Amino acid sequence: MSKEQLHQIVEALQPELKKLSDYLYDNPELGLKEFKSSKAHVEFLRKHGFKVEYPYLDFETAFRATFDSGKPGPTVAYLSEYDALPEIGHGCGHNMLGTVDTGAGIALSKVLSETGGRVVVLGTPAEETDGIKVDMAKADTFDDIDVAICSHPSDKNEVSGDSLAMDAIKFEFFGKTAHAAGAPWEGKNALDAVINLFNGINAMRQQMKPTARVHGIISDGGLAANVIPDYTAAEFYVRAPKKAEKEALLERVIACAQAAAQAAGCTMKHSFYEKSYDDMVTNQVLSRLFNQNALDLGVEMIENEGDTIGSLDTGNVSQVVPAIHPYYDITEGKPLAKHTVEFRDCTKTDFGYQAMYRTVEILARTGYDVLADTDKLQAIKVEFDETFSR
Ligand SMILES: [Zn+2]
Ligand SMILES: [Zn+2]
Repeated sequence: MSKEQLHQIVEALQPELKKLSDYLYDNPELGLKEFKSSKAHVEFLRKHGFKVEYPYLDFETAFRATFDSGKPGPTVAYLSEYDALPEIGHGCGHNMLGTVDTGAGIALSKVLSETGGRVVVLGTPAEETDGIKVDMAKADTFDDIDVAICSHPSDKNEVSGDSLAMDAIKFEFFGKTAHAAGAPWEGKNALDAVINLFNGINAMRQQMKPTARVHGIISDGGLAANVIPDYTAAEFYVRAPKKAEKEALLERVIACAQAAAQAAGCTMKHSFYEKSYDDMVTNQVLSRLFNQNALDLGVEMIENEGDTIGSLDTGNVSQVVPAIHPYYDITEGKPLAKHTVEFRDCTKTDFGYQAMYRTVEILARTGYDVLADTDKLQAIKVEFDETFSR
């Protein structure tokens, strides 16, 4: 047995990998409703000898699958996602994402008798909305895990980078109704409050760092033009490269909402309508292992270009355990945004399938390195401790 044998192992898994990715493509399910999708992953893992807790942490579509060599050693975890988007199905390619990470866990399990240790595949629902990785990072899920790996389909082979810390905040304004023509002076206009909020935030942009993002919608703007609205609501995402910076920005946004309410004679309440995502902190030692394994299979990983644009729930994981989140090209390098029909359909092309098989092998090889080389794992841990003791 050796690392090279992973090639034959993945080759043998190819029909099952393709079947799983295609099945999910044909059966897209929204976050926390991934019943068929999670079941298909669990069946695949059980078939290959994994012990599976399903449901996991009280989430019906989450699971934790373990393959234990029975010999001492580290634990490598792969994070599987399988949620889709409204209307366009797997526009983010999570049909392939989950297949790759589950497949890597299965491939690695086949050489575990040689390396010792354990491999865990975590089924992590609702990445697009209310990421369950956030709950897993808060619970004891990663206490006995040494590294966590997730990889995402993309339009380039890009190294694991960073992602924005994010809050999803909702503001509600409460006023008083009045006839908008008959006696408007008797009203307290909650629509004015929400418009003030947008104007306040827009004025603040000049004093915001260019890397920060605040973007929102009016989710409730009143019911009829002849009634002064007594209730309005707006939803915002507030993002910044680091958690502390995001917290400071959030305080300023809340202050804008307070002032907006006051100016309109209304009251205001805020709440968080989705979970907060922490920024992604890539473990560079682990990332270099992945990049080298990619290169060994002929894939050159490129550095991130430009600013970080999105937020990931793997960010929260990366704050409790050494983690990476690299990207692999499924579009033949053609620039294509995620969350589109075009990107979705790249998961059904020959090029996409080849990228899928290759990435399964790269991920499994990276896991192998962690299990087989104690010095490498030690270096990963030293970096993690140094990063978070600062
Ligand atoms: Zn995604
Ligand atoms: Zn997405």
